[in-house]
Amino acid sequence: MEKGKQLYEGKAKKVFATSDDTLCIVSYKDDATAFNGEKKGTILGKGVINNRLTNRLMRLLEAEGVPTHLVEELGERETLVKRVTIVPLEVIVRNIAAGSFSKRFGVAEGLVFQSPTIEFSYKNDELGDPLMNDYHALALNLASVDEIALIKNYAFKVNDILKTFLLEHDIELVDFKLEFGRLSDGTIVLADEISPDTCRFWDVNTHEKLDKDRFRRDLGGVEDAYNEVMRRLLGDTI
Ligand code: UDP
Repeated sequence: MEKGKQLYEGKAKKVFATSDDTLCIVSYKDDATAFNGEKKGTILGKGVINNRLTNRLMRLLEAEGVPTHLVEELGERETLVKRVTIVPLEVIVRNIAAGSFSKRFGVAEGLVFQSPTIEFSYKNDELGDPLMNDYHALALNLASVDEIALIKNYAFKVNDILKTFLLEHDIELVDFKLEFGRLSDGTIVLADEISPDTCRFWDVNTHEKLDKDRFRRDLGGVEDAYNEVMRRLLGDTI
């Protein structure tokens, strides 16, 4: 499948058209941003790692019955995916308090929840991705009642599957962000990426951070952490 014209460039990925208008090609960059684009940098090799990790995790989810946009890995940084229109909601599932949750509710990072939580943010950079509940999403016609119910179902199922898989590799799944898309017939599928950019991964024994918090908080060892996740999950490093 040949890369056609660039349709979109985001903070971490570019999207290209193909000769088939139901498919497009995602290309992962090494560019890193945080705090709504205020902090910028490069994480060497991140594009390769996030491409391969996302595809591994999406293949697992597909096998367990969660539909995704994944079609085929084309190269180190490039993957063929089904073309979707993104539902403008960032769907965040949490097992352990961290980041904005700890700040908002005044609880220590590391508090393990009785049961997982879910929240939505409105995917809108100009507004800084404000927190939003189901009724806000409905009022703004971002998704239907049925779509919201399905998205929540999928999100918790993704959590169960990933939590188990990651634990087998000594990684604790603290929280993560998902994005969903609609195919042309309206079918909801998981889209975007699942990577150390979009998840918090902690070492199960030491609780060492193995994710983008190392970049956000200037903890050092950013590339090493991404590589360590890849080594544990794919048995490989770059
Ligand atoms: N997240 C993301 N993109 C965003 C916001 C959050 O991928 O625009 C991920 C983040 O990496 C973490 C989870 O969602 O795994 C929860 O993030 P949180 O709300 O704590 O925000 P943060 O502290 O990262 O600003």
